[in-house]
Amino acid sequence: MSFDTTNWFTEAIDETGTAFSLKLKSRLHEEQTPYQKIEIFDTETFGKLMVIDGCTMVSSRDNFLYHEMMTHPALYTHPSPRRVLIIGGGDCGTLHEVLKHPEVKQAQQVDIDERVTRLSEKYFPELCASNRDPRAELHFTDGIKWVREAADDSLDVIIVDSTDPVGPGEVLFSEEFYRHCRRALGEHGILVQQSESPLLHQDILRNMYQRMQAAGFAQQATLNFPQPIYPSGWWSATLAGNTELRSFREQDAAQKAFSCDYYNAEIHKGALAVPEFMKKADTI
Ligand code: SAM
Repeated sequence: MSFDTTNWFTEAIDETGTAFSLKLKSRLHEEQTPYQKIEIFDTETFGKLMVIDGCTMVSSRDNFLYHEMMTHPALYTHPSPRRVLIIGGGDCGTLHEVLKHPEVKQAQQVDIDERVTRLSEKYFPELCASNRDPRAELHFTDGIKWVREAADDSLDVIIVDSTDPVGPGEVLFSEEFYRHCRRALGEHGILVQQSESPLLHQDILRNMYQRMQAAGFAQQATLNFPQPIYPSGWWSATLAGNTELRSFREQDAAQKAFSCDYYNAEIHKGALAVPEFMKKADTI
């Protein structure tokens, strides 16, 4: 079926030969910051849409899948997640999920581009609902600079909610970055990073595993989950640490006192299952 493309947003990716489109109501904002181009649209069926450098970032309708899976598995895998650092995450959806955990005493968010947060406050206020929580700290600088300066054993969980490994986000997939995260997390800390599409980006996943292991993270475990607006609609987050990442505080997760729209203890277990093609590819 062909359609008039004038009032559609399309992210078309040459490398993977894939594209994703959303029918638009209007373009709400566009600006070039010192770091990236940010666009905000109003769509017919997915609410608001944020796009950075032509890549879909967050939509009102389906961001819950990503923000819940970037947060709750890692926090329920850690025995007592009090000190949490978010690298990236400028739309503040991950921060909002982190602060649902009463054990968390400090949640620092470090995004390189303040404009992402200011635009999210205007167009995605529901994601910024916890920004004034006394435990929240919003900082605006390069994430690798922040972790270089982080003290040893000063964090329990680091969440890397960054753009893809290109442009400003590329350093957040480097061995140097992982080494500093490892030092700041100490022996029992957990790193979780958005790890692209298991279907389309196995090379990126394999490189992440290798660099994490080279940096001293002996264990990795990848969580699979749906994310319709991202390439292929099949997304992932990868846990890294030196503890058993496939067991978690299951009873705490099952009895959690806050609401989610996707995450629960059963989803957590299912997300850790390894698809056969990934076992064969010796990726995971
Ligand atoms: N969920 C999205 C995804 O998976 O592509 C990521 C959302 S969030 C908007 C991505 C954030 O990473 C952006 O706000 C961007 O400014 C931030 N970012 C990119 N490179 C960074 C860096 N080196 N340090 C800190 N933040 C960075």
